Amino acid sequence: DIDRDASGLPVSVHGVVQDITARKHAEEQIKHLADYDSLTGLPNRRKFREQFDRALDSAADNGTLVALLFIDIDRFKHINDTLGHSDGDELLKKVAQRLSQALRDGDVVARSTTGGNSVARLGGDEFTILVTDVVDLDAVHRVAERLLGALQQPVQLASQEVFVTASIGVAVYPQHGDGPDELVRKADIAMYAVKDRGRNGVALYEDSMNTATRDRWQIENDLHRALERNELVLHYQPKLDVASGRIVGAEALMRWQRGDRLVPPGDFIPLAEETGLIVPLSEWAIGEAARQARVWQQNFGFADAIAVNLPSRLFERSDLIEHIHR
Ligand code: GH3
Ligand code: MG
Repeated sequence: DIDRDASGLPVSVHGVVQDITARKHAEEQIKHLADYDSLTGLPNRRKFREQFDRALDSAADNGTLVALLFIDIDRFKHINDTLGHSDGDELLKKVAQRLSQALRDGDVVARSTTGGNSVARLGGDEFTILVTDVVDLDAVHRVAERLLGALQQPVQLASQEVFVTASIGVAVYPQHGDGPDELVRKADIAMYAVKDRGRNGVALYEDSMNTATRDRWQIENDLHRALERNELVLHYQPKLDVASGRIVGAEALMRWQRGDRLVPPGDFIPLAEETGLIVPLSEWAIGEAARQARVWQQNFGFADAIAVNLPSRLFERSDLIEHIHR
């Protein structure tokens, strides 16, 4: 405001100065949260997508290659299940640091105008790495090997030291596609191929992998339907008391009657575990074993226990005991 004297001439000016440091800071923080993963501090899926778009644009202009490395930690659920979620979180942080460090130490690929190689966390135990300005695939392989090497040393967590491995799938622009979605999908397929081969390795995408994944999808879909169609059966292995030769109980073992083939558990339980279908499958097994126990009770006076195998994650459900009672 301007103060004036009687003749209207300005004599002073006064106003209020506001310190908006805190607000600016908060705005920056919000912006950071939108683009970065709060656990590891790495760029998140959104930021990754932005970086990927930029890298592809620049590669298209310059005629260079871009490799997308899709990394998924092997058997990470096991860490969560045995050591707990906070150790799981700690491991994710340490892995993020190792990957970033390995890239910083890298001398195999030149830094580029698009920001060089960057690590991001897409979510869960999935990380991506963009390798830009690539001249040949050997360089990409060396980066992947370096990343796997970086995980070789045991990781110190609060409760203990653990060994961790990862599976890496690679897709390359323009060879495997020219859009980000297609490249992510193909790198993911390649990553699954490594998992299938026993994990802890690298694979470059190949078209033949597509069919292998389709087979997986097919089995997964069929398994979904197996429950509705009553295609699952329990086989009972008797437990004998050696001294008396009497049956003192039974263990229920699951089989899948898929068409005219009886699928052994080894061929579908791992997939059921991966997809979470193991939960409804196990709930069905509890109900079915109970029904069978009742039949034997009425017909033969069976009064022993039937053991049903349950995955650890079912024990996390608060209604498990209630379900068994029902
Ligand atoms: P695979 O070798 O097949 O990858 O086995 P996996 O056990 O690593 O399975 P997958 O990659 O499918 O599962 C990742 C798990 O990571 C699933 C979820 O329980 C866990 N998870 C996801 N986000 C977080 C997180 O922020 N913290 C922790 N501790 N665990 C997470
Ligand atoms: Mg994993």
